[in-house]
Amino acid sequence: MHQPAIPHLAEADPELAQLIEGEAKRQFEKVRLIASENYVSTAVLEATGTVLTNKYSEGYAGKRYYEGQQFIDPVEVLAVERAKALFGVDHANVQPYSGSPANLAIYLALVSPGDTVMGMGLPAGGHLTHGWNVSATGKWFRAVQYGVRKDTGRIDMDEVRDLALAERPKMIFCGGTAIPRTIDFPAFAEIAREVDAVLVADIAHIAGLVAGGAHPSPVGHAQIISTTTHKTLRGPRGAMLLSDAEHAKALDKAVFPGLQGGPHNHTTAAIAVALGEAARPSFRDYAAAVVANAKALAEALAARGFDLVSGGTDNHLILMDVTGKGIAGKPAAKALDRAGIELNYNTVPFDPRKPFDPSGLRLGTPAITTRGLGVDQMPQIAEWMDRTVTAANNGDDAAIDAIAAEVAELLAAYPMPGWA
Ligand SMILES: *Cc1c(COP(=O)(O)O)cnc(C)c1O
Repeated sequence: MHQPAIPHLAEADPELAQLIEGEAKRQFEKVRLIASENYVSTAVLEATGTVLTNKYSEGYAGKRYYEGQQFIDPVEVLAVERAKALFGVDHANVQPYSGSPANLAIYLALVSPGDTVMGMGLPAGGHLTHGWNVSATGKWFRAVQYGVRKDTGRIDMDEVRDLALAERPKMIFCGGTAIPRTIDFPAFAEIAREVDAVLVADIAHIAGLVAGGAHPSPVGHAQIISTTTHKTLRGPRGAMLLSDAEHAKALDKAVFPGLQGGPHNHTTAAIAVALGEAARPSFRDYAAAVVANAKALAEALAARGFDLVSGGTDNHLILMDVTGKGIAGKPAAKALDRAGIELNYNTVPFDPRKPFDPSGLRLGTPAITTRGLGVDQMPQIAEWMDRTVTAANNGDDAAIDAIAAEVAELLAAYPMPGWA
């Protein structure tokens, strides 16, 4: 049963309640390896489902455009103060609706349409909002894109520097969505200084690892840090902009009134809860365990002949090319989903195939680590994955269904927040 229970919803709208129960059960039974997903705590779930959703509060604490902020102001101040303390920054804005609008607010704060900006290309592991051509950020700005080296699968800092010197971007994004290796923030900062660009670190994927001390922090290197709150940070869907004092005002003005209206106060409260959880010593253990699990899983997959981009991982994420296994990313992901192993098909660097039918798979350990799985279980997951790919190649659905039963049996022993 969904936890907290939803009896009023079941009464008022049984059709919807059933779908939610179904999703909760699905999350309980699957090995969830989507690198950007997690399980939030029941406390975070409770905060998102409160009357704070009823309140309008355009503006910032102490300077609102609506009355009745006696409780909303301290909620937002709590979230802001916890964010500043956890990451060690001068300024935090917790109002962006999600990671993409947070990044758009940075453009609004720093650059004008037509200005040159620089980010990592989407096929190399960057995010759409770092200037990719189909995104508003690629259409409205002159975006130049760096990638990874073909031989190492890693960011080529010489290429980044050469491109920055040639193109003189006003703003440089580092970070991405499919980067299995540590981001070298000091090296990016040096390049940004050299060309007088503002360095933005988008730590959406790794914020929890940064907060938990399992990935170096961009603070002191990037003037602006953007992050979602719902990936490794294990909060509700939302985002934050963190910065030095110099950029505080411009960012705040860009978020509101530049881009958004009223903040989502129920989300703000849940962000505060998640930040409180991330400040506890146990979250450091969690962050370390996420990385240890990813390394163990990467090793077990490599031992079974999976071709890992960059040869392994430093963080929570694994990117691999499954061409050598005789299958493409999409059919592999579909077969794995049937086997109870949920991940996403993904472009690999220099992928000869199309983005909607690419060569790779992306997976990560944030969610299974929250479930309590440890390094001892990682070889078993790799074995299931290997067996599933073989079964898919043989068209053996019965073998895949047998794996799904084994998966559900293992996971039955690991409690899930949100399900009782
Ligand atoms: C997830 C992600 C985003 C976007 O977040 P949404 O909440 O999906 O809009 C932005 N940047 C990076 C690096 C991300 O991984």
